[in-house]
Amino acid sequence: MPNSWAGYLAQRPRRVDFRRYHPGFRAGTLRRVREGITPAEALSCVLDETCVLGSEVVASRDAQGRILAEPVLSTRRLPPADNSAMDGYAVRRADLAAATPPRGVDLRVAFEVVAGGASDAVLSSGSAARIFTGAPLPPGADAVVRQEDALRDGDTVRIFVAPALRENVRNAGEDVEPGERVIEPGTRLGPAHLGFLASLGRSVVAVHQRPRVAVLSGGDELVEPDGDVAGGRIVSSNSYSIAAQCRELGADSVYLGIARDTPEDVERHLRAGLGSDVLVSSAGVSVGDRDYVRGALEKLGCRLLFWGVHMKPGYPLAFGRVEGEAGPLVFGLPGNPVSAMMTFEQFVRPALRKMAGFTALHRPLLRARLVEDLAKKAGRLNFVRVALERDGETWLARSTGSQSSGVLRSMILAQGILVFPAEATRLAAGDEVTVQVVDESVLARESPGF
Ligand code: AMP
Ligand code: MG
Repeated sequence: MPNSWAGYLAQRPRRVDFRRYHPGFRAGTLRRVREGITPAEALSCVLDETCVLGSEVVASRDAQGRILAEPVLSTRRLPPADNSAMDGYAVRRADLAAATPPRGVDLRVAFEVVAGGASDAVLSSGSAARIFTGAPLPPGADAVVRQEDALRDGDTVRIFVAPALRENVRNAGEDVEPGERVIEPGTRLGPAHLGFLASLGRSVVAVHQRPRVAVLSGGDELVEPDGDVAGGRIVSSNSYSIAAQCRELGADSVYLGIARDTPEDVERHLRAGLGSDVLVSSAGVSVGDRDYVRGALEKLGCRLLFWGVHMKPGYPLAFGRVEGEAGPLVFGLPGNPVSAMMTFEQFVRPALRKMAGFTALHRPLLRARLVEDLAKKAGRLNFVRVALERDGETWLARSTGSQSSGVLRSMILAQGILVFPAEATRLAAGDEVTVQVVDESVLARESPGF
């Protein structure tokens, strides 16, 4: 790994094609499409097919939010030398055994050391060195006295305290020693990491490539937001919510537009996304006469792995992979806006996080107390959109209203997704439930905690 742009440019940049190393990829293997599987089965199938993307080298200053693809080893000792934590006087403790207020001990100020200066002058007995924060401790000194504890008069300083050994001294290497492993691969780089990389002289860093996601919608009824909605047409809201879901987790999305309900147009739009890492289409994957997505995918060489997941919202989800070295993962999401977002949330998001190099793929979970009764039929796992609110240290979960798969409002009001298990038919007010936290701003507090 080069440490600078010059070093990097001397090498050829390399984009690693992860599919080469993809364990699940066996060209020409015929497998039956699984139908009507559980969400857990669907998720494990998706993750089995997903591999971590290769790395790329970026400027450290642009690496905020990226996922580290190399271990960062320290090449330096930080701080490089013993140095002062205060503005004051470097001293020899033996000279100050008798220094107690109001009686002080007088020392001769022999020299001065500034931050960035050298410290070769040796401090001899009976003398002090004027020193500033960050300046190297001169040889012979074993403590620093704050200037607030001293009184300067010309070449003499009167010191009123007997400092402890190495008081107000920052030790060489107390942050890191050469060869120490400091940041682990899979770490999401934040402000402290970038500052640390800079301290190590690392102007470039290897991070995982961002997944590139091609997003398309399909349906004769769909228009763009500035389109004419007369005659029962609706805006293709999925294009917006799905692209935003991609962005939120750091993936790049490319919008392929709206495919009309003909096999040719669906195929043409899907083909345009074959160069991406992941192809996400919404609508047209169900069993209607005009649902052409699955047929078009198979025509394009997509090996479908499953269709139909026992969940609500979002049963009609199709998943597969386009055969061939560069074939993307393909998700055919249901068209209903909530179903599209929920299936993205439960399956596409973890896959993209895995590709992007994250080690933890799923949302934080919390236990909450339900404030109302909920009922459903047995058989499908329900993902209930809930508002979260705190009652002291207890979390309360309340359904966001109509859970119809067309009511996007139920997502707008939700900070969490309650997992209502497949075989359960009833949850009662007061029950403890498991909630995926989708909006971490719910953890923000009005008081600072100090
Ligand atoms: P389909 O899967 O094509 O039967 O679509 C299911 C429902 O989702 C229909 O009511 C569609 O109008 C709606 N729908 C499909 N695509 C979108 C989209 N991109 N944005 C909003 N609603 C959509
Ligand atoms: Mg349709």
